[in-house]
Amino acid sequence: MPLPVLERARSELLDWRGSGMSVMEMSHRGAEFMSIIAKAERDLRDLLALPDDYRVLFLQGGALAQNAGVPLNLLAPNGVADYVDTGHWSQKSIAEARKYGEVNVAASSADRDYTYIPDEATWRLTPNASYVHVTTNETIGGVEYFWTPDTGGVPLVADASSHLLSRPFDVAKYGVIYAGAQKNIGPAGLTLVIVRDDLVGRARRECPSVLDYAVQAKAASMFNTPATFGIYLAGLTFEWLREQGGLAGIEQQNIAKAGALYAQIDRSGFYRNDVRRSDRSRMNVPFFLHDERLTAPFLDGAAARGLVQLKGHRAVGGVRASIYNAMPLAGVLALVEWMREFERDHG
Ligand SMILES: *Cc1c(COP(=O)(O)O)cnc(C)c1O
Repeated sequence: MPLPVLERARSELLDWRGSGMSVMEMSHRGAEFMSIIAKAERDLRDLLALPDDYRVLFLQGGALAQNAGVPLNLLAPNGVADYVDTGHWSQKSIAEARKYGEVNVAASSADRDYTYIPDEATWRLTPNASYVHVTTNETIGGVEYFWTPDTGGVPLVADASSHLLSRPFDVAKYGVIYAGAQKNIGPAGLTLVIVRDDLVGRARRECPSVLDYAVQAKAASMFNTPATFGIYLAGLTFEWLREQGGLAGIEQQNIAKAGALYAQIDRSGFYRNDVRRSDRSRMNVPFFLHDERLTAPFLDGAAARGLVQLKGHRAVGGVRASIYNAMPLAGVLALVEWMREFERDHG
């Protein structure tokens, strides 16, 4: 969370703008909260330059609920869904979709340990697939799409959880974009779904109402009580992003942050990142020390300097720096400084 957002929330925690109540105490259908959610949606639309034919849904259940929501809304009972497998989160999406119908894995980077995005020319897409699903930033592997797949007339669906709002995004090329809030949007408990109008209203009969895009769009995300405090904090985050110069502005900061970190990793053979250069994530930077036995002392020394939450995911080990929007450049430079120092003492 950006510090100014937390400070603003603290100042308004007990009494939201003279209303005499906390946002947590408001009726979600009252005038105050309606103004909060409307402003959040307006600012998000403005940030993403969202075309008018897209609905914004503020839901719950995380990205993993949407892994079921997508096939339940879009996969025709006798249809096929194409998925591109680029690592941990793609695999979760694929496994969930298989509960609901036929899945074709159109491409996979498993052959080189998920260190790249398969070139589009190699994708084996199904003609007339119900949709094509991609994970546009693999949070654990640290691989990111810097281009938009061309699926012809087939709807393109993206799990963009870990990089949405980190840079401009060509929404108009996608049918559905979904993201758990807890990376760049707000606190855990809120899920953002952006869906094009023509894909609303196709849900299967057995689709739970809370996951049905048409039900939620008609109810303005209030089929059940929405995550009110999370929506409020997301709204403050959108305002903060606008102050950063919007998505083009935050992108410049993210380029500088990721650039400094990868430059340090690549400087000598002491640290290593195996991801193809063109596909390296700006949000999640996993790396290894040349001698695996140095990982624990590296992490301990980092923690002693206040550099925390750097342990690599248990599936891959090593180190991972997740440098989301809210991480300032100074935080990344402090890590780079510690990497230099550690290499000097152990290199
Ligand atoms: C964090 C993350 C998830 C998990 O989302 P939940 O909100 O925990 O359901 C899914 N996909 C990606 C790409 C993620 O980064």
